[in-house]
Amino acid sequence: MEMLYKSTRSTETVTASQAILKGLAPDGGLYVPTHLPKLTTSLSDLSKKTYQEIAYEVMKLFLTDFTDEELRTCIQKAYDEKFDTKEIVPIKKAGGAYYLELFHGKTIAFKDMALSILPHLLITSAKKNQVKNEIVILTATSGDTGKAALAGFADVPGTKIIVFYPKNGVSPIQEKQMVTQTGENTFVVGIHGNFDDAQNGVKKIFGDEEFKNELDAAGFQFSSANSINIGRLVPQVVYYVYAYAKLLEQQEISEGEPINVVVPTGNFGNILAAYYAKQMGVPIQKLICASNENKVLFDFFQTGIYDKNRDFVLTSSPSMDILISSNLERLIYKVALEDAETNAEFMKQLSANGKYEITEEMKARLSDFYGGYASEEEDAAMIKKLYEEEHYIIDTHTAVAACVFEKYRAESKDETKTVIASTASPYKFIKSVLEAIDEKYAQLYEEKGDFALAEELAVLSGVDIPKAVEELRTAPVLHKTECDVDEMKNTVKRFLFKD
Ligand SMILES: *Cc1c(COP(=O)(O)O)cnc(C)c1O
Repeated sequence: MEMLYKSTRSTETVTASQAILKGLAPDGGLYVPTHLPKLTTSLSDLSKKTYQEIAYEVMKLFLTDFTDEELRTCIQKAYDEKFDTKEIVPIKKAGGAYYLELFHGKTIAFKDMALSILPHLLITSAKKNQVKNEIVILTATSGDTGKAALAGFADVPGTKIIVFYPKNGVSPIQEKQMVTQTGENTFVVGIHGNFDDAQNGVKKIFGDEEFKNELDAAGFQFSSANSINIGRLVPQVVYYVYAYAKLLEQQEISEGEPINVVVPTGNFGNILAAYYAKQMGVPIQKLICASNENKVLFDFFQTGIYDKNRDFVLTSSPSMDILISSNLERLIYKVALEDAETNAEFMKQLSANGKYEITEEMKARLSDFYGGYASEEEDAAMIKKLYEEEHYIIDTHTAVAACVFEKYRAESKDETKTVIASTASPYKFIKSVLEAIDEKYAQLYEEKGDFALAEELAVLSGVDIPKAVEELRTAPVLHKTECDVDEMKNTVKRFLFKD
């Protein structure tokens, strides 16, 4: 059966490849599948398959206008030796939970899971739809998306990529990763503002019809690599199916046994993928949404009020420092029983007043979800505790999830086996991670910088320094552009029309 996608704000429907090309619907809504497909292979059969095979089994249900061969090629090109382990996503048992390590790709964070494949999905989609224009990927990043998108699109023919990041809102390693990116078609800009400013700026450019026509005349068209693109979301469903299948294979769970999933959340893409996996038939019981001190989502699940009017906190888990979780719109649409008008009204309120309140009926449909949050102190204490008790070192984002997992267990007495999405390598947030373990590392950092810390972490964790970090030692800075929030459009123009 052909799968179509419709906007969360109107009744417009498009094919999968069109949804991938467009990123955002013209009415400002997000594309969602018209129905969620059920898995056609049993989980016990899937348990014997590789990551790539499971990816095929899941993605074919969503991308029905791709041929088998096209899809298999995309998967092969994405999940190969770029990952430092054959398993692609290993599962580690520690602290009473299963850590699903989503950070073994090129940029050592979970965004690689989707951004390794998105360029291939996009190029294939462009061919299918006879697109002649060069595709310009425009992306706002809170740190990890930017590098993962740059790495995915670098030197991919027929594409250019422009990344905006908050100049003072990412970790030193994250910044270094981005500004050292090679590839003739890559552009990186530090903006004087926070992530929400960057994301709003990009959304504005996307919505600018006049600019769009100007670009079209020059042979360009925009697409998005942000987590609102359905081509990001679909590959993320795969690893939740994979996690269940592998726990089954390893006899950690029995067939049909429910599991809980905890996801450290920012833009709500990763946890939404888990929700989709649940609807496809993976026995997931609770979807536990973990926030850092920017706890908009926690408050939302408590009260049914989404309110971004609050101070923006810079935390040690910067990829979750977000006040507008874009992908939540897909869930709002769902609990509004797919009423685009109702959803559009909430989004209008969000954009006008920074706030909306869902109805009691809608709230009741959120019972699959549990929202929790962790303070900076709790986060650091969790990293230290897992290191001391289990010799397992997790990053600051994953630690938010680990804290919320413990709080949830204590509060609910729910002993269901639990998968924690481990979203970044501790090497990516090394300063915060090591300082959580021992304050003495602050001084080492002052004196000797990130790479001295990397050597310490290798000793403490017994995990070798990843190639991605090793390479940064000598990589030259290639991108130095900065701009104010209101100069973003002009900056894009400068890059594209420079000659
Ligand atoms: C992006 C990111 C998150 C948040 O994921 P969302 O899909 O935006 O909710 C969490 N942790 C890390 C390390 C990330 O890079």
